[in-house]
Amino acid sequence: MTTPTREIHLASRPTGQPTLENFRTVETELADPAPGQVLVRNTFLSVDPYMRGRMNDVKSYVPPFQVGAVLDGGAVGEVIASGEESLPVGTTVLHQAGWREHALISAKAARPVDVARVPASAYLGVLGMPGLTAYVGLQRIAAMKEGDAVLVSGAAGAVGSLAGQMARLMGASTVVGSAGSAEKVAWLTDELGFDAAVNYKDGAIGKLLAGHGPFDVYFDNVGGDHLEAAISHLADFGRVAACGAIASYNDERPSPGPRNLMMLVSKRLTLRGFIVSDHADLAAEFHQRVGAWVADGQLVFRETVVDGLDQTPQAFLDLLAGGNTGKMVVRLP
Ligand code: NDP
Repeated sequence: MTTPTREIHLASRPTGQPTLENFRTVETELADPAPGQVLVRNTFLSVDPYMRGRMNDVKSYVPPFQVGAVLDGGAVGEVIASGEESLPVGTTVLHQAGWREHALISAKAARPVDVARVPASAYLGVLGMPGLTAYVGLQRIAAMKEGDAVLVSGAAGAVGSLAGQMARLMGASTVVGSAGSAEKVAWLTDELGFDAAVNYKDGAIGKLLAGHGPFDVYFDNVGGDHLEAAISHLADFGRVAACGAIASYNDERPSPGPRNLMMLVSKRLTLRGFIVSDHADLAAEFHQRVGAWVADGQLVFRETVVDGLDQTPQAFLDLLAGGNTGKMVVRLP
């Protein structure tokens, strides 16, 4: 028997801002699982900013997507046929074969997840890669301490909204966020417990932050002018967790770096980049600590849910343009 299904391919490499023409929906058929394999009906797909980098034909920490091949990424789904005893039909699993309705994968590439207390989609966000990214960035990269004043950019997104809340729960003296709309800023202060938040579209980010610092820790999701402003507003011995630089992901030419790098010297700052997958050793601690905060309601999360495989490319474009609050996911029927 075979299972008819559909998947999203990279039709062409984007130049600058991606468009829907860069993607194509393709029909295909999958065989039944061989021993050691499972067939999964995906229920939620993840769209993530790092995928933009994989659309360029450049060497990086993950190989580029291939033109004419399916785009993959985080997904959760239900096992509907199994060649592996430990993953029987009905098990919900997390895996990396996203952007498709069904996935035929090695059982070793599928991790069972507990959906008794949280929705399956949480494993793409708060209890998944973005949540671990926030935790690693604060705990290990910025070495956050109780009493630190923390600034988070991209604060209403998946990673940022969790980083800000985790900073509060780890004893920050103050947590300030930046995001791209009045609604997002209100969400940060009214519901997530940020002490203050600024809409970076209201003016120069450096000026908007005046009066909120100095900060001991900057969790950087944005780069560019945000990083320059943060360096100016960091306290002596401040630490930057360089997580992402979304302001430049669609740049066709490299944008100039911060003009105030001399402040790294004068303020004795530390700026450290990281990739979450290098820090899997913190996963157990993360699941225990953050799982408990989610379970007792101290840490809340939001998802922006888009329906249908066909909408996946648009969801990705909207993510890059700020159309999400919290984690952007695609729900499949
Ligand atoms: P988000 O949910 O934060 O979505 C992206 C957000 O970026 C948008 O919602 C938008 O919000 C904001 N944005 C887009 N363009 C700009 C701009 N020019 N200036 C400021 N903000 C902008 O995505 P994630 O939480 O998944 O990822 C956040 C960051 O973390 C990204 O840089 C990503 O690459 C990085 N990352 C890094 C990892 C690592 O291992 N180092 C792992 C996972 C993520 P707004 O409306 O506020 O503009």
